[in-house]
Amino acid sequence: MDQTSIDAVRNSKIVPQLHLIGGRHVAASDGGEMDILSPLTGQLLTKAARGTTEDMEAAIASARVAFEDKRWAGQPPAARKKVMLKWADLIDANALELAVLGVRDNGTEISMALKAEPGSAAATIRYYAEALDKIYGEIAPTSDDILGMIHKEPVGVVGAIIPWNFPLMIGAWKLGPALAMGNSVVLKPSETASLSLMRMAELALEAGLPEGVLNAVTGEGAVVGEALALSMDVDVLVFTGSGTTGRRLLEYAARSNMKRVYLELGGKSPNIVFADAPKLDEAVKVAAGGIFRNAGQVCVAGSRLLVEASIHDDFVAELIKVTEAMKVGDPLKLDTNIGAINSLAQLDRNLEFVQTALAEGGNLMTGGKRTLEETGGYFMQPTIFTDVTPDATLAQKEVFGPVLGITPFHSDEEAVRIANSTIYGLAGAVWTSNLSRAHRMVRDVRTGVMHVNTYGGADGTVPLGGVGQSGNGSDKSLHAIDKYINLKTAWIKL
Ligand code: NAD
Repeated sequence: MDQTSIDAVRNSKIVPQLHLIGGRHVAASDGGEMDILSPLTGQLLTKAARGTTEDMEAAIASARVAFEDKRWAGQPPAARKKVMLKWADLIDANALELAVLGVRDNGTEISMALKAEPGSAAATIRYYAEALDKIYGEIAPTSDDILGMIHKEPVGVVGAIIPWNFPLMIGAWKLGPALAMGNSVVLKPSETASLSLMRMAELALEAGLPEGVLNAVTGEGAVVGEALALSMDVDVLVFTGSGTTGRRLLEYAARSNMKRVYLELGGKSPNIVFADAPKLDEAVKVAAGGIFRNAGQVCVAGSRLLVEASIHDDFVAELIKVTEAMKVGDPLKLDTNIGAINSLAQLDRNLEFVQTALAEGGNLMTGGKRTLEETGGYFMQPTIFTDVTPDATLAQKEVFGPVLGITPFHSDEEAVRIANSTIYGLAGAVWTSNLSRAHRMVRDVRTGVMHVNTYGGADGTVPLGGVGQSGNGSDKSLHAIDKYINLKTAWIKL
């Protein structure tokens, strides 16, 4: 994709966004709309339907009817596969439009969006399309006169609540396996990044997904998200977002029909660099990318850098050089390294973390401020603190912005102790040439994914999920399918 093609569509008009219910575009039942602001300029981009509880109930009812009459689940697997493969092809065919629309809405740098958004979403849909006719039930080892069969059934209606940082990629992680297994879905995109995901949902209908099987409602989490999570008619709720919201969803499930709830939450992931790392210059570059790409708005961001004390000062000096060379700016330029912060509220939160880190004795080595304010957009300098103690706020709380805290360590045991000292357990990395040490760190650091001599980039064949307060269950890989099926036993006397 070249700059000219991006520039050609970067200012195209965006029509106001409506809900997608029962295969039709509909406005909010009370006519309400919300402003969609551009993080690149702070200006109005378009409007979207501000959903009501009634809108959400209509979407759930539509999904229920579509599930019960088997218009999707009852189709032969080969037919469902064909539709899903066509959908993936349509996502690829519209990749530029989807990526640019998403960037205008959420601020991710386009070089990353092109790969991580439509590209990855299409690959995910294709992966589950290919898997759907390879999932079998089982026959249990029973006595001669009994046949014990284990069926794998769709769960029914799935509610999917999506955050703003990678709406297509994360949306596809839920939609792919949920639809492949024959479920109906009600999608609730983030209020600050709904446009590209709503377009991707429309493409599913264009590919031949029957009406009502995929419904999508825009609006505020506290209204339509809550109505989805409190519904008595949603069987499984899948969520990616903050711990605060995740905790609420568990309460809503308990207060309603005790629906299964799967949470992918935040992190405070440790990136641990030993002096014997094979290529320290590579570790420096990857550490910078691991926290600053997408302006730190990445759940698996390596936001805690633990550096062996003997190389700490040299490593930090190199890291500052690499960081200061990163270009913050217009996310729609291919040479931008760090795009915009998604919203003014998030930018303010990031800046508050900087003040707290300073007050707690952190040493600000670079960044720390809003930048490019003249654009009206929400940009922040990549920010590095040293002397961050393991109990400091910056070492304990997720910022979800371009702020890195660095802490030195003196032994393997100390590195593990610091790494495991938060409520989170999403991702991590170790850089070392010592094979035994690498395996020990993978075993001992409590995370859902542990990288060795790299950071990030895992593909759809491996699961992503957290431990501790980073969540439960996993997205991606064949394991994700378990969330979208029920096991049913048939016990047959012969
Ligand atoms: P958020 O929790 O504020 O919002 C996520 C979604 O929940 C949005 O669609 C929002 O409208 C909805 N929501 C908000 N309040 C709700 C309520 N009361 N009831 C129902 N729904 C409600 O999170 P965010 O700020 O959009 O995303 C950032 C967070 O997501 C970070 O913590 C980040 O680490 C996490 N995240 C995790 C992963 C992962 O795979 N573990 C991936 C990406 C992001």
